[in-house]
Amino acid sequence: MRQVRTRSIFVFVLVLLFFAGIIFFTANISINSGSWVQHIYNWHTSGNGGLEKAGKIFDRNGVVLAQNVDGERVYNDDYDTRLATLHVVGDNSLNISTAVQSVYRSELTGYSFIWGLEMPETFRGGNNITLTIDSNACKTAYEALGGMEGAVVVMNYKTGEVLCSVSSKTYDPQDPPEITEENEDEYVGAYLNKVLSSSYTPGSIFKLITTAAALENIPDIDSRTFECSGSAIIGGEKVSCMSSHGTIGIDDALAQSCNIVFAQLAAELGPDKMTQAANKMGINSSFNVGHSPTVKGHYDVKDAEENDLAWSGVGQYTDLTNPMQMCILMSAIANGGNRAEPYYVEHIGGGDFTKQYTSEKNGTAMLESDIAQRLNDMMRYNVTSNYGDYMFGGELTVCAKTGTAEVSDSEDNNDAWMVGFVRDEEFPLAFAVAVEDGNFGISTAGPVAVAAVQACVEGLSAEE
Ligand SMILES: [Zn+2]
Repeated sequence: MRQVRTRSIFVFVLVLLFFAGIIFFTANISINSGSWVQHIYNWHTSGNGGLEKAGKIFDRNGVVLAQNVDGERVYNDDYDTRLATLHVVGDNSLNISTAVQSVYRSELTGYSFIWGLEMPETFRGGNNITLTIDSNACKTAYEALGGMEGAVVVMNYKTGEVLCSVSSKTYDPQDPPEITEENEDEYVGAYLNKVLSSSYTPGSIFKLITTAAALENIPDIDSRTFECSGSAIIGGEKVSCMSSHGTIGIDDALAQSCNIVFAQLAAELGPDKMTQAANKMGINSSFNVGHSPTVKGHYDVKDAEENDLAWSGVGQYTDLTNPMQMCILMSAIANGGNRAEPYYVEHIGGGDFTKQYTSEKNGTAMLESDIAQRLNDMMRYNVTSNYGDYMFGGELTVCAKTGTAEVSDSEDNNDAWMVGFVRDEEFPLAFAVAVEDGNFGISTAGPVAVAAVQACVEGLSAEE
């Protein structure tokens, strides 16, 4: 009798395991089949990268960036446009993991759990994707880079639509290079969308964070003056400035980008308040752009000596920032403290199947409104007193900050930045440009930012 009972329990457990297995298997299939079928190693879909049945990809103005012609995936006719839009659109491979053709492969190929890849045409809602980007602005920004490597992003800070997004090193998706051990040096970073996935030493653009920390924590900051004699000893070691600024207040210190003032402020504020400001402004956070996360920046001064802390306040030491994250910060400063949430995909499909994308987190607070307004005015003063409105053609009300980050002893090896936004109601554009191996922020990143912003303004004007 005992033996029979043991056997029944054994059979019962077996049956239980069997059903548990079926449940696990079914769940696994329904959750993962979409990505399995899109996998590059699935021979059913490989050859053309699984894109034989993929829909078209359009830019915001209806320009075709990718489509199938006679079973072949074909990209835009224009060579520079293809190179400029590669990192947003993608190529036939999945090498650029954040590109639309990688991230939205299921939507693009019309894969469904019931039909697999063989959904009848009549049921397909049209699997085209319309992007937010203006391919002409991307091309203009790419050409303005003139072969330099880096990242350019411009977005509408009211809506979160990314209008221009360019990453270089790039290549032609119509004729992708075969990257081998011999030529891999030539293509370092080519598979990265640097707008989302690279971080650079910020240099003076980080003074915006130090300024916000000072505005929040030092009550008499507006009436204070500082002394800059070209260098100062902080924490027993030297901090140097590009110039000798003499007696200077906070607004002019930011406009003239005085290192001494912001190094002293960081040392005075201390590691906790500096870290608090950096965290609040998103430096150590990752942000979602559609389904793709941005890389986190880096601000960590817990083991910093006083001199390191001083340098961290002017964007050196171990500081790192990501271009998209800086563009998001610009949106918060432009929007009275509330950030925009960027996105690349405007809608997918057509007719009843249309899925419209909007930004749910638009308006999330990042800064107190009075601090945002003060930074906004200070960045406007940077342009009127230093860079000059003529830089942006004289028609736009631009607020900006440049940065030149020394990453080695060589003068032509700096991370050159320009970040900012346009105040004008009809052109709510925030931008961030980071160029590798540049000279100065204003001379290297400046012209690229101007070209990208002006091209976006032209595009928006034509839409009206
Ligand atoms: Zn100075």
